[in-house]
Amino acid sequence: MSADPIVIVGGGHAAAALCAALAEAGQGGRVHLVSAEHELPYQRPPLSKSFLKKADETIAPHKATAWYAEQGMQTHLGDPVVYIDREARRVLLRSGTRLAYQHLVLATGTRARTLDALPPGLLNVHVLRDADHARSLRIRLSEMVASGRRLTVLGGGFIGLELAASARQLGLDVTVLEVAPRLLGRSVSASLGEYVLAHHRSMGTEVQIGVRIEGFELQEGRLLSMQVNGNRVAVDELVLGIGGVPEARLAADCGLVVENGIVVDACMRTSDPAILAIGDCAAFPIAGGARIRLESVQNANDQARTAAATLLGREEPYAPADGGTVTNFPADHTTRRGERQQLHSVSRCRRQTAVCRVGQRTAGPHDVAQVDRGRFADESGFSGRSFDPFEVAARLNLLPRQLRSVARNPLAIHISGA
Ligand SMILES: Cc1cc2nc3c(=O)[nH]c(=O)nc-3n(C[C@H](O)[C@H](O)[C@H](O)COP(=O)(O)OP(=O)(O)OC[C@H]3O[C@@H](n4cnc5c(N)ncnc54)[C@H](O)[C@@H]3O)c2cc1C
Repeated sequence: MSADPIVIVGGGHAAAALCAALAEAGQGGRVHLVSAEHELPYQRPPLSKSFLKKADETIAPHKATAWYAEQGMQTHLGDPVVYIDREARRVLLRSGTRLAYQHLVLATGTRARTLDALPPGLLNVHVLRDADHARSLRIRLSEMVASGRRLTVLGGGFIGLELAASARQLGLDVTVLEVAPRLLGRSVSASLGEYVLAHHRSMGTEVQIGVRIEGFELQEGRLLSMQVNGNRVAVDELVLGIGGVPEARLAADCGLVVENGIVVDACMRTSDPAILAIGDCAAFPIAGGARIRLESVQNANDQARTAAATLLGREEPYAPADGGTVTNFPADHTTRRGERQQLHSVSRCRRQTAVCRVGQRTAGPHDVAQVDRGRFADESGFSGRSFDPFEVAARLNLLPRQLRSVARNPLAIHISGA
């Protein structure tokens, strides 16, 4: 084994991107990749989209098994880390294997949020986070098509809506229940939320917003019904699409600072400089002294590159591609019936160079909003005048909620659709 091993905990997008960056730097021989999952890192976004709809679609790995061996990397699959000994710089895997590290990188992502009122293991209640979930859900959906049962999705966020759209396209009757007054409330503007609502309804999905969930009726290991707005609603199958919780238990147990995710600096170092954290689980600093945690592939990839630089002894704080000073933000994108919204990045840059263009390249209000260097150039109402990009972003309700109150410096928002 290498004298200065890097142990990566996690088998998702961030771990895969870090493996790639370290391999590119000729450091593959130092890497141990440890994943709770039984397969090598794979593309997660298709799990709520094409994978559910196509019986023959396979899980797409980032790299083939042979690639890891060629890079000299050692993989430990289906064998989660259960304990971090910071003093000895060693991790313990569930199998009893111990791995020494010079640097440890936590890329543990999020786990699906569940409801206390629903005991785990109910036969007809599901979550969608990983390949195993998607495989069993795909089988369940095809059985439901055959038997005419209805799918209920609790949660009108990206994953819940993508799943609902996929199920609907398979021919299922689908109900989406959202407790908030609108869909995608945490990520898009009110008008885009309305557009998406109308779009799903036009597909034949029953969407109820602003609902009150008052209770659950269980029988013999199944959820029989839910009490919704005073009415009993029978449930055939329920998927919880109510977000994720940062997987930070290992970090907290070994005394790292955890506050809505594992707290890191701009170089992805945790409160122990020998341990880094990246991706969905990492809470990183942004303008104004606040922290944010993002759940997107772009964020996982970008933070992996920053972490690789740190591991290789370079200080390259998480920075936007345009040379601005602070951050490069999320790519929460999704496809819905051939349409795509992508939130590329939010980056702080100098007021005089930041420019915004807001337009409609596909149907629907704010369906495409592009903020870039240049001049306002369209029907946005901001045309031709100087502006504070933050004000624009706030008015269009385009920023993640956490950013709205903290980022008073000019921001450029890059949001596009294709
Ligand atoms: C169904 C679905 C669809 C999505 N669609 C999109 C999309 O269209 N666009 C987009 O940008 N983002 C999308 N996302 C979000 C995106 O997949 C995540 O932001 C991204 O995967 C984050 O990468 P990560 O490596 O931080 O975490 P993950 O990819 O979640 O990986 C975390 C890994 O850590 C492992 N792990 C956890 N604890 C341990 C432990 N103790 N020991 C070892 N391993 C451990 C987990 O098993 C997992 O393999 C989607 C997510 C889901 C679930």
